[in-house]
Amino acid sequence: MKSKRILVIGSSNTDMIIKLERIPRPGETLLGGEFTIAAGGKGANQAVGAARAGGSVSFIARVGKDMFGEQAVAGFVRDGIEVSHVVYDRRSPSGVALIFVARDGENSIAVASGANGKLSAADVRKAKGAFAGAGVVVMQLETPLETVEAAAELAAKAGVRVILNPAPARELPDSLLRLVSILTPNESEAELLSGVKVSDESTASEAAGKLLGRGAQTVVITLGARGAFIASAGERRLVPGFKVEAVDTTAAGDIFNGTLAVALTEGQALAAAVRFANAAAALSVTRLGAQPSAPKRKEIERFLARRLR
Ligand code: ADP
Repeated sequence: MKSKRILVIGSSNTDMIIKLERIPRPGETLLGGEFTIAAGGKGANQAVGAARAGGSVSFIARVGKDMFGEQAVAGFVRDGIEVSHVVYDRRSPSGVALIFVARDGENSIAVASGANGKLSAADVRKAKGAFAGAGVVVMQLETPLETVEAAAELAAKAGVRVILNPAPARELPDSLLRLVSILTPNESEAELLSGVKVSDESTASEAAGKLLGRGAQTVVITLGARGAFIASAGERRLVPGFKVEAVDTTAAGDIFNGTLAVALTEGQALAAAVRFANAAAALSVTRLGAQPSAPKRKEIERFLARRLR
């Protein structure tokens, strides 16, 4: 039987969020904000999203040997994530994001990557054993590209599928895309990688076609509230999203990727797995924060049962 273990490789950040009337201008001091602190970072969000949805998850990452790194790891452990490959970096601080959220929902974010920028190809190679036992490897682009490339090569050698969420947006070499089983850009990432402006189903299909042409085996373009467009050699279609009252869309894409990995390792077909991920991500947008918004398996199942037509 194929392994169900999900190996997530990527970033961990601590998000420090101030909600206030509007975003302060350069040089300006604004009083009256409300502060919250929440665990974030795309890699960690995807790992937590997968674990809460019932996945058996190992995480490869670097955090600082500081209060934030220790709290992040304690959180992973609480969620049942295997952390033997989370390295404490003694020279770099933990990754931190300082986020302003204005009343109208607009935000402004500054990220200090810290230890995430030090996650190296050597770190990944040291965790080689984890690849052999994995059913899928899940990655994003908040850690160095050469680390992602080294991991994709190890996964290919071990015969393990790779889900690459190409976020934050950046150009990627075809040599990497050829190692990707499922590429999961959002609209703007799909545009940057394909050169096609994605605004509806037909442009999503066109962009996905270009990305298949660049070497990805399967492409899933997430389309916000509309759901996700899937494209592979045999199948091209929209898997519609679920209508919910959106409160905070932070980490929607991350929850989508983590839960997609869970459904796929359980043997669900692509369209069914994407429906499961749409449901989990929809639930997450009804809640504030990144990791705090990740739904548990029972909640996703209840949600899906209620939405059965
Ligand atoms: P990102 O957060 O990476 O920009 P998207 O906005 O495309 O990615 O969202 C990822 C997924 O989250 C979507 O495919 C969908 O399943 C879900 N989602 C996002 N926004 C909403 C929303 N407003 N209502 C319901 N589902 C949503």
